[in-house]
Amino acid sequence: MSELPYSYEAPVSQVLFDRAAAVTPGGVNSPVRAFRAVGGTPRFMVSGSGPYLTDADGREYVDLVCSWGPMILGHSHPEVIAAVQEAVARGTSFGTPGEGEVALAEEIVERVGPVQQVRLVSSGTEATMSAIRLARGFTGRAKVIKFAGCYHGHVDALLAAAGSGVATFALPDTPGVTGAQAGDTIVLPYNDLEAVHAAFHAHPGEIACVITEASPGNMGVVPPMPGFNQGLKDACAQNGALFISDEVMTGFRTSRSGWYGVDGVVPDLMTFGKVMGGGFPAAAFGGRADVMAHLAPAGPVYQAGTLSGNPIATAAGLAQLRLLDDAAYTKVNEVSQQIQALVGEALGKEGVAHTLQNASNMFSVFFTDRAVRDYEGAKAQASYRFTAFFHAMLANGVYLPPSAFESWFVSAAHDERAVQRIADALPAAARAAAEATA
Ligand SMILES: *Cc1c(COP(=O)(O)O)cnc(C)c1O
Repeated sequence: MSELPYSYEAPVSQVLFDRAAAVTPGGVNSPVRAFRAVGGTPRFMVSGSGPYLTDADGREYVDLVCSWGPMILGHSHPEVIAAVQEAVARGTSFGTPGEGEVALAEEIVERVGPVQQVRLVSSGTEATMSAIRLARGFTGRAKVIKFAGCYHGHVDALLAAAGSGVATFALPDTPGVTGAQAGDTIVLPYNDLEAVHAAFHAHPGEIACVITEASPGNMGVVPPMPGFNQGLKDACAQNGALFISDEVMTGFRTSRSGWYGVDGVVPDLMTFGKVMGGGFPAAAFGGRADVMAHLAPAGPVYQAGTLSGNPIATAAGLAQLRLLDDAAYTKVNEVSQQIQALVGEALGKEGVAHTLQNASNMFSVFFTDRAVRDYEGAKAQASYRFTAFFHAMLANGVYLPPSAFESWFVSAAHDERAVQRIADALPAAARAAAEATA
């Protein structure tokens, strides 16, 4: 790697990682940040500006993670920062209602047709957890259908992704989740409507809801087959269950009204996070007014949060959403297509088997020549090629998600210079992927 402009070493990050490991399990506050899937030293970032991140060793990277989606306008957008500064100056939390949360709720309701009422929370996990509780409370039923490879945050009942085949009762994926917590979760293969019909048939009157990522991005990008989401909605409607579309990742990213704006399928409940917080902890769940009316204090299903609707987070989210007009989405989509084309070209030149998949401007590369439709397909890729590719990109100043099973994210701030730096890094990374051995 001697011709690379960036040293592979990250001594300051390594010192910080060692310090972190002494006081925090695994040295991180969210597992994927630890680089375990790819090895090496996680980069400790100190600042971000537009499409760039700067690490503690003073190196600059083109950021293709964008905080896992939220930073769709790029880092430190001046208008978002100004809105935050203005809000901070007025105080940081009141524990009372405030106008900012009303304005953010109005913005969400205006953008996303099926959302008649919305409740703000602080994380995507809270949003999906609360939506499931509400679905159970509304229907008086216990069971939940989810799909293997779909991630809905670390909700106990939804950490069951093991098992495939029709109506497999999930074993919890992690110690600490009991059989009782996961026992009402039915895990099915993604994009398999037959399996969904069979599960409804096997459990008449028992299924409260089906939850799915609107377009999955947590096993890499695996969009729904045509008709899949509508089929889920119809199956739920026929069986008295609620259809929950998890748009924590896709919401306000894949279009101005998220994946709903792309496929138009009308869910009963939806969940949001990431982009709507503008880089702060803000998330939401919402949907049909008659269902939302079951939520406390309007109804009996309890849900609450000390920092829900926090004035700083809502100011940041609102400022970001107001900047996300059609022109911004056009820009993000264009730059995403440009980068996808460059990646495909570089890997093609080196003869590396790969499949690029996208859902609007979200995309990922699978190191296989077969289209990926479900989690089994995603796992069948040659991830060792991704590891080599990732490290070559990192060494050349491009920060990719440190796992082969994650979406790549771009922003409206990714300009020609940033794209050129990606283009410059790609040939060596494609070669590294070609030369990698299992
Ligand atoms: C990120 C994510 C979540 C969890 O959100 P957190 O804010 O990390 O708790 C839930 N669902 C989907 C689809 C996500 O991508």
